[in-house]
Amino acid sequence: ATPTALLVGTGRGAQLGVLIKGPEVLEQTRRVDTVVLDKTGTVTTGVMTVRSVVTDGADTDEADVLRLAAGAESRSEHPVARAIVRAVESVDTAVPTAVTDAENLPGLGVRATVDGRRVTVGRPDLLGALPTTLADAVTAAETAGATAVVVALDERPLAVVAVADTVKDTSAEAIRGLRELGLEPILLTGDNAAAAHDVATRVGIDRVLAGVLPEGKVAAIADLQREGRVVAMIGDGVNDAAALATADLGLSMGTGTDAAIEAGDLTLVRGDLRTAVDAVRLSRATLRTIQ
Ligand code: ADP
Ligand code: MG
Repeated sequence: ATPTALLVGTGRGAQLGVLIKGPEVLEQTRRVDTVVLDKTGTVTTGVMTVRSVVTDGADTDEADVLRLAAGAESRSEHPVARAIVRAVESVDTAVPTAVTDAENLPGLGVRATVDGRRVTVGRPDLLGALPTTLADAVTAAETAGATAVVVALDERPLAVVAVADTVKDTSAEAIRGLRELGLEPILLTGDNAAAAHDVATRVGIDRVLAGVLPEGKVAAIADLQREGRVVAMIGDGVNDAAALATADLGLSMGTGTDAAIEAGDLTLVRGDLRTAVDAVRLSRATLRTIQ
């Protein structure tokens, strides 16, 4: 392969909005046959909003619970955390600042002491069995394609907060483009199966791996590689970094976290998935001129 052609390809990539870490990455890009996509922040905007709050009964004040949850989430950059903090701020309520022992549980949620109360916010399965009202609220939220998180005070589950995200308007076109190049798209997420399938249907993805913990993302990539596939992974989160490094080709969203950008071989500068399609086309064109 002539280094000049590879360098020209790399330069052309930069014009298209694709930063390529080294000329050898183009060769790797050309071999890919499967593209695994993270959901939140990659296929969706990653900007979540609170849709509803359901409490366990009349004694629980919805605004109080949400405020304590926002305190616990105030140090997290997760889209769910941002949504809860914004919901509290948008009704002109101060987010508690007396927050200690904050703990981030990647792919699960957060825990912290807020105003002297032990607060947990996270996946419904993080908190054990839920009272019927809350279990029903989780089912209702997930059926509607939302993400349900449970808020517990002093280990007692008191509320379910439903948050939802929107699909980027460029995602469906990007998925179509990947298919036209003969690549199989697979959606991979830590979120619940119903929310994942809802997004998959909207953008035209048939295969979904949902409810996957951060370690599980790496295992999912390795499983696909064992099937003999050459796997590209596209992601934006801290939770995606290990999977991006494991994949044969890691593509990070330029709008994502530094951890993801460092782990990727290639960065989609504008966070536009269509530029992933451009990158594959470019690698094929560049290497064709070399051979
Ligand atoms: P994704 O793969 O969609 O980017 P993550 O692995 O980051 O999702 O998170 C998986 C699930 O864990 C979320 O859908 C949410 O239920 C829960 N979760 C993660 N972080 C938080 C948080 N800071 N607050 C509440 N729930 C969280
Ligand atoms: Mg993400």
